[in-house]
Amino acid sequence: MTKHNPFHGVTCIHGLTLFFLIFTIAVTDRIWADDEIDGPASSREEMVSRQIEARGVRDPDVLKAMKTVPRHHFVPTKYKDNAHGDYPLPIGNGQTISQPYIVAFMTAALNVKPKDRILEIGTGSGYQAAVLAELGCEVYSIEIIGSLGKRAKETLGRLGYGNVHIKIGDGHKGWPEKAPFDAIIVTCAPEKIPQSLVQQLKEGGRMIIPVGESGGIQHLVLAVKKGGCLASRRVLPVRFVPMVESPP
Ligand code: SAH
Repeated sequence: MTKHNPFHGVTCIHGLTLFFLIFTIAVTDRIWADDEIDGPASSREEMVSRQIEARGVRDPDVLKAMKTVPRHHFVPTKYKDNAHGDYPLPIGNGQTISQPYIVAFMTAALNVKPKDRILEIGTGSGYQAAVLAELGCEVYSIEIIGSLGKRAKETLGRLGYGNVHIKIGDGHKGWPEKAPFDAIIVTCAPEKIPQSLVQQLKEGGRMIIPVGESGGIQHLVLAVKKGGCLASRRVLPVRFVPMVESPP
């Protein structure tokens, strides 16, 4: 005679309950650990494939960094839903965070490697600096508007980008104490390339910089330092905010 176990069914139900409990904890834990399931992370994937890869930026490290940096943390709350749109967005004080494609294009043009020391002029939201930091670079970024620099510092600190160093000041002078730099990226437009930036670039180093009149025709210029001088060429027509001499 088979011995009847009055608890057998109960054990089965408990087993099933336990399975669902563990499953639920695992899923919930993922949601808690990462506030972005099917949200910003998938928006970034789409942003990268439609706006960046489709337009010819192919560097896998740059694409990965653009998929990783949480762009929505760098835009004002009211624009969070538009954080991954194919356009620049206002960040306050009349300034903008660049269009994702431009950030990717400029980053790829610099051809950086981990541990490179990069000078950025125009911290703005801190997003471009975060993309370079994600690539393992040591980033020195200068912002002329105090409140923007302070906010960018807070955002980058909160997200754990300890390899970005921010200074408030006029980028025309560069950051001589931290020079020489492997690469320089300028995200505001001067009418001509400031000579102190050329001096602070390593021999063989690259610079990407928008050059031209405010509100007029500007071009992204990609330059390489050879024999102490810049060999440069225009790579893309663009529109950036002007590089100013004092805070607006
Ligand atoms: N790279 C930024 C976008 C920058 S917008 C980002 O990822 O969000 C250009 C920034 O350059 C603005 O914040 C503006 O205040 C700053 N800027 C303009 N002239 C400057 C100068 N002379 N020195 C440093 N920053 C300057």
